[in-house]
Order: sequence, then C-alpha cells, then structure tokens
Amino acid sequence: MNNQSNKPKIGISGCLLGEKVRYDGGHFMDKWIANQLSKYVDFHPICPEMMMGLGSPREILRVTHDPETGERRLIETKSKIDHTESIHEASKKIISSLPILDGFILARKSPSCGVITAKHYNAKTGYADERGAGLFSAKLLENDYQFPIIDSGLLFENDYKDLFMRQVFAHFELRNLERKTSKLQAFHAAYKYLLMEHQPAKLKELGQIASQTKNIDEQFDEYSDLFMKTIKENKPNKKKRINVYQHLLGYFKKDLTSKEKENLLKKMDGYRDHRISYQTLLELVDFLVDGHIDHNSKAYLKTQKIFEPYPKELSPYKF
Ligand code: SF4
Repeated sequence: MNNQSNKPKIGISGCLLGEKVRYDGGHFMDKWIANQLSKYVDFHPICPEMMMGLGSPREILRVTHDPETGERRLIETKSKIDHTESIHEASKKIISSLPILDGFILARKSPSCGVITAKHYNAKTGYADERGAGLFSAKLLENDYQFPIIDSGLLFENDYKDLFMRQVFAHFELRNLERKTSKLQAFHAAYKYLLMEHQPAKLKELGQIASQTKNIDEQFDEYSDLFMKTIKENKPNKKKRINVYQHLLGYFKKDLTSKEKENLLKKMDGYRDHRISYQTLLELVDFLVDGHIDHNSKAYLKTQKIFEPYPKELSPYKF
C-alpha cells in the first residue's frame, strides 16, 4: 500500500517520549528515542493505562498468573482491584485505531507495555516467578504484524537495536514502493547482501517472487510477508557475516595491494576469533567503499543496503 509520509511511523509507549503518564505522575523518557530517533521517524504515542481512565498518578498494577490455568490478570497491588477486562477493552480501542505503522517500541518492565520484561506474579505464592508480556503488549502481539515490536529494554543492546532499525526502515521502504515488478526487483537487488546476513537460503525464493508476473498486489504481499519474516526471524551471526564480507571484499581484490589484502584477511580472522568487533569490520568495509568505490566503478555495491540500511546517526555501531 502506498503512503505519502516521508518518515517511518512508530507506535510507542507515551512515557518513553517524556509524557507524564506513569503511575507515579512522571515519565520514562529515553534520551536516544527522544533526541535521536525522533529526527528520523514519526511517533504514534499510546498509553493503555491512561486509556483505561486510571489517571496519573495512580495505584501500581501488576500482572498475576495462575500457575494451573496460566491465566494472566492485571491487579492493583494494594486494593487488589482487578483491571483485566478494562485493559482488554483499552487494548482493543488502541489497536483498532492504530495508523499504518513500521514498528512499535513498548516500555520495559511495565505490566501493560513490557514485551518480554513484565514481571508475572504467581497468584498462589505472590512471588514474581516469570517474566513476559504486559497485558496490552500480549494483545498487540496476537495480531502478528509484519512490522517489528520491541521491548525498550532491548534497545540497550547493540545487536537488537540494529536489527530493529533495519526492520523498521525496510518495512517503510517496502510499503512505500511503487507497485511495479521492476521496483520490487530493484528493491530485492539492493537488499541482496543484507538478506544474506539474515538467511542466505531465502535469497533465491524471494528473488523468484520478485520476478513473477502475477497479480501485482499478490506479488507484493507475498514478497513483503516473506521478506519481513526473513529479517525478523533470522538473526545475522558470525558465520553468515563472514560469508557476506568475503563476498563484498571480493569486489576489491584487484584494487588492493598484497599488503592491504593480508591486512584485511587478518581483520577477518580477528573477527572470527572474537579479537575484533563487528563494528571494526564494518568500519573497514565502509572505508573501502568510500575510498575505492568511485574510481573503481563499483556502482553496484553503492546500491547495497547493507552499508546503510537506516540513517547512520541511529546506528549503535559508530562509524
Ligand atoms: S501504561 Fe505504558 S505508556 Fe502508560 S505509563 Fe505505563 S508503560 Fe508508559
């Protein structure tokens, strides 16, 4: 579906943007989100507990779980008032009025918004013996959206932040792509090495879908579903990354001196043996692309998304 917005749109727990909607009357502002990410995306803030009409400040809530039935409920800690039906209603209202999104960031540890970090208290013992989704997030996750949904706690980990950004910007680009087979093929070509980092086995299958001459909407839907599934469910690992960088460095074989080649291979070994980071490897390839690409006519490489899948300022790997 075409959309005229020129920035990805991200659903977000309002407290992460600095909105004073928390149980204690405060916020939970995340500086990276508020100061950096905000320059490159539009936000759609939500607050399930305010939507329930609880106001701020309010009583602290917690998720309880019945160890026998597995049922999760949202309970006020002091009064023991049960808000389960109310959070389900609020969730339904929020979800049914969501705009088209490219991702969702939900506040960590919250009994409503946490995606993997909400404490779940055993209804029999009273102890927090599990962690998982808050009750709003659990409803959101039931929808099986193509876009990524992340717990804000994971944004502190470089690899998760990088993956989330890749997914958001790819989703945005894909849904804004003009519905022409030629455009889809160009998209697929540009994502070749990035896809190889996630799941090389899917590259061919996606390429076949991008070349099919069938109903254009069916083709786009099939491609988008599989593409997003591929980059969400398959994380890059050392082996896949080394494979990709060996392919990439192959483009520079004739342009480098034997000393430079030797140096590069040493760096690759260093990455393999955990002596240097992925960040260092990226810096090196980035340097090669910037320094050699023009006068060596490697125009094809310039189109590769792997070098800049999203704005560099947002990368946890500093260049
Ligand atoms: S319900 Fe969600 S958005 Fe509202 S204050 Fe709690 S964590 Fe933030």
